[in-house]
Amino acid sequence: MNIGVVGAGYVGLVTGTCFAEMGNDVICADVDAKKIDMLKRGRSPIYEPGLKELIQRNTHENRLTFTTNVAEAIQGSLIVFIAVGTPSREDGACDLSHVFEVARAIADNLKEYKIVVIKSTVPVGTADKVREIIADNASVEFDVVSNPEFLKEGAAIDDFMRPDRVVIGADDVRVIEIMKELYRPFVRTSRPIIVMENRSAELTKYAANAMLAARISFMNEIANLCEHIGANVNSVREGIGSDQRIGFPFLFPGVGYGGSCFPKDVKALVSTAKESGYDMRILEAVDDVNTRQKSILVPKIRKHFKGKLKGKTIAMWGLSFKPRTDDMREAPSISIMNQLISESVKLQVHDPVAIKEARRLFGRKIKYCERPYDALKGAHAMILVTEWAEFRNPDFKRMKGLMAGNAIFDGRNIYNPKIMREMGFTYYGIGQ
Ligand code: NAD
Repeated sequence: MNIGVVGAGYVGLVTGTCFAEMGNDVICADVDAKKIDMLKRGRSPIYEPGLKELIQRNTHENRLTFTTNVAEAIQGSLIVFIAVGTPSREDGACDLSHVFEVARAIADNLKEYKIVVIKSTVPVGTADKVREIIADNASVEFDVVSNPEFLKEGAAIDDFMRPDRVVIGADDVRVIEIMKELYRPFVRTSRPIIVMENRSAELTKYAANAMLAARISFMNEIANLCEHIGANVNSVREGIGSDQRIGFPFLFPGVGYGGSCFPKDVKALVSTAKESGYDMRILEAVDDVNTRQKSILVPKIRKHFKGKLKGKTIAMWGLSFKPRTDDMREAPSISIMNQLISESVKLQVHDPVAIKEARRLFGRKIKYCERPYDALKGAHAMILVTEWAEFRNPDFKRMKGLMAGNAIFDGRNIYNPKIMREMGFTYYGIGQ
């Protein structure tokens, strides 16, 4: 099939590349000329395991091409995916300006029948608005499908190639068949393609992210309570996760969720509900708890140093909002670094892939270290913010030898408190 993908970010690029990998002809368009230039040279503008190799293979086979000319991606394709960003507006509502801009571009270039697929995460009713924009400006037949994406950064290729499910919001039988045909190679292991109307498909994406965010905020509340009353959140997690009705995924407390999805999607859903006259009280609390959680480490650090933070050197391991990605959007590390910088702390940071992004955000305000142990040199304390695999079993003796102090603030509970204390560290975890 001939497929156009508009927006070559984390979602659009993975979507286009994976469709090409299945033999489709895909053209990805993005307004960011730098991004497209990199892609044309076989380089990936983002870090995502396995993506670069797939881009190179499919561009080499001429199944995957890149352009800054959005019209070109629309004109040559039967199916046009909209995969542009839908960031938060100041008031928390979803900013749909990029989606509508693409809808207008589609209308301007509609010379024959097309299926327009909304892949971006969009509030309920967006498919109707996109349909309106195109119909007002074009006289050719078209259909609009809602097809939210559930991939996780850091495992995006795997998730796209073997999704738990594919959600298709559409009503025309022929369109549903074409979409099923497109996704058939990805669901060979009997994963379901779930068909519903546009509105339910749009809400399904928000409901999924809101549910996951709620689990995290819930566990963060339980962890904070543990600290107040002398219980251990790890034991509680085991105790509740083994209940089959609850299960273990997404029960880890930490320094709050970040990323380009959970924070903005929870806010957008609250906003959608408000617009329709309904208060989503649980989700308002989920968001509040998360904001508070991003600030729980700094008071602990301040207390450890008896209020004297000024001039202290602190090492930080992990900058990205989660492991296996260079994405720092809404990352807890940003909020922690800002708080410490404002208290004149000297920060020495390391991340396996996000240093470039951190440099873009923080410039010369902090010291960047290419190796984890370099960040520890002369540090009075170390903060673990992102649980990259390589941080799980470090050489504790070496760490101790490099540091000037002995405090470890483990924002993801990846170290064993008993062992850490035996090693001579003063260890602080979350909820234990
Ligand atoms: P992104 O910021 O990485 O990519 C968006 C891209 O769209 C950018 O490259 C931007 O230059 C481009 N763009 C913006 N306006 C354009 C236009 N008019 N024409 C062409 N290109 C344009 O965003 P992302 O993380 O890929 O997210 C895209 C959508 O997918 C969002 O709605 C997001 O909520 C959703 N989503 C993201 C994830 C994720 O893990 N990142 C997962 C599921 C769903």
